[in-house]
Parts: sequence; structure tokens; C-alpha cells
Amino acid sequence: MTRFSNPSFVSSVLEEYGFRFKKRFGQNFLIDGNILDSIIAAAQLKAWDWVFEVGPGLGALTTAAAAKAEKVVAVEIDRTLVSILKEKLRSPNIAVIKGDALTLDWRDALQEQGWAGESLKFVANLPYYLTTPLIMKALEGGLPFQNLIVMVQKEVGQRMAAQPDSKDYGVLSLVVQYYTEVSLVCSVPRTVFIPAPKVDSAVLSLRPRPPKADAPRAELFEVIKISFQQRRKTVRNALKPLAKQWDLTLGDLDQAFARANLDSSLRGERLTLNDFSELTKQLLKGR
Ligand code: SAM
Repeated sequence: MTRFSNPSFVSSVLEEYGFRFKKRFGQNFLIDGNILDSIIAAAQLKAWDWVFEVGPGLGALTTAAAAKAEKVVAVEIDRTLVSILKEKLRSPNIAVIKGDALTLDWRDALQEQGWAGESLKFVANLPYYLTTPLIMKALEGGLPFQNLIVMVQKEVGQRMAAQPDSKDYGVLSLVVQYYTEVSLVCSVPRTVFIPAPKVDSAVLSLRPRPPKADAPRAELFEVIKISFQQRRKTVRNALKPLAKQWDLTLGDLDQAFARANLDSSLRGERLTLNDFSELTKQLLKGR
């Protein structure tokens, strides 16, 4: 718990600076020390870790992480918050950068602060409007994050962690689980934020590891995406346009299902990542 998540501290800072929340930036500040402790514990921070944070807000996570890690580099889009943070956070191991995390080069930002490949972790209470693109950037941007602890809207968290045969299972589950081992750290009620959002949240731990699927990634993701474009369609029917694009006949498509040992009347939600991988490999063989 740091004073930066204390409700009276947060209110006094907001008042001191006459701060107005900007809805467009998804600003909901965490004011619960227990949730904060759970996030920091899940990150398993060591004294030599570097932490990259998106959206420090008033610094609740930033200061808690900085108390355990070597250095925290935090990117904040709101210039007013950046000025407040620069005044309030005087720790030498915190660097606040003004920028849009979606377009900023994270590696450059880290290196400018002196990061030279040290053990790196990602911690963020993400703005809702950018959750998926920011998570994809963290997973696909090439930085060696050892783990990613992210606070997201509850429904998005359920989708990331979902297993086959559930309504939440889909592209996001498969893509995130392609890169990482996903687990729920804790559920978070909407009441622990200022201002309270309209939805509940969840903290998830994403632990990168080598992909469990061995089909070529770009084609695998194409197969997955098209298979869920219309959830009620069978995968075979959903894949027809892609098969055509890949110069495959319907016979080739059926053969791919047979060789992958898959029932072609199944819908996407029944297929595991491994099933999609096998199917993709067999489709590519027919090309
Ligand atoms: N970390 C703080 C906390 O937990 O109390 C604030 C979290 S708040 C949900 C999201 C933060 O992300 C806000 O401070 C917001 O201004 C910032 N933000 C929104 N869009 C951003 C972007 N594109 N790049 C960087 N920061 C952004």
C-alpha cells in the first residue's frame, strides 16, 4: 500500500490541481491497497527488475512497483497527470514519459532511461478503450517481458482466460494463450476506483512462454480470426473464403479436416489452439 492509492490522498491531489477526469483516456484511479498489493505480489518483483507501466495515472502502481524494483518507466498520455507526477514522485528510480503508449516505441523509451536488457516486467491498470491493442503490442512488440500483470475490464479478462466450449472463448483467448500462460489474479469490484467505472474489472497474469502451437503464426491467426467471424457457422463454412484465397478447393478443405482428425461440422468454439494449429498446417500442405 502506498499513499498514492489512499482515497483521501487521491482526492486531495485532485483538488489541489483542480484535476478533471478525461473519460476519453479511460481514467479510473485505483484506491484500494489490497488490490494494489495483489498486483504487486503477482508481478513477483525483484530488486533487479525493470518495470514498464502504461498509464500511471496518479502513481498508485508506479510507486508500489518502484518500492520493489530497480526502475519503473511509466508512459502517460495526459500532460496534466505527467506534471502532477513529476512534482509528486521524486524517486530517482521512476521515469515518467509523456506519450501515447500505442504509438510510442517502448524499447527506445526504456533504452533512453538506461535499460540495457535487464529483466523486464509489465504492470498496468489499462485504459479500457485500448486494452486489446496495448496487450497485443506488449505480446508482439519483441520486448522480453517475463510477466505481464494487467488490470482489464472483467469481460475482457474472462475472454483472455476462456477455454473451449464456453461463450467467452474466441480470438482473444486463442491469441493471448498462444503467447502466454494466462491466470486470474483477482476480481476487482468497480467501487475501488475514482471515479467508479460502469463495469467490474479483473487482474490477470500473463506469463510469456514459447508458443504451444507450431503452425506458422500469421496463417494460424488468419484461420482463427475467420473461424470466429460468424460464431454460428461451422469452421468448415467459415473457412471457405480463406480456402479460396489460398487457392484450395472444397475437396482440399475437407481433406485438411480429415488429416487433422477434426470433425468439419464443429464450430470454432469447440476447437483448441492445437486443433487450429493442426488444421492450419494441413491447409497449408494443400496449397
Ligand atoms: N495506473 C493508474 C491507477 O491504477 O490508478 C491509472 C489507471 S487508469 C485506468 C488508465 C491511465 O492510462 C490513465 O492515467 C490515462 O490517462 C492513461 N492513458 C490512457 N490512454 C493512454 C495512452 N494511449 N497512452 C498512455 N497512457 C494512457
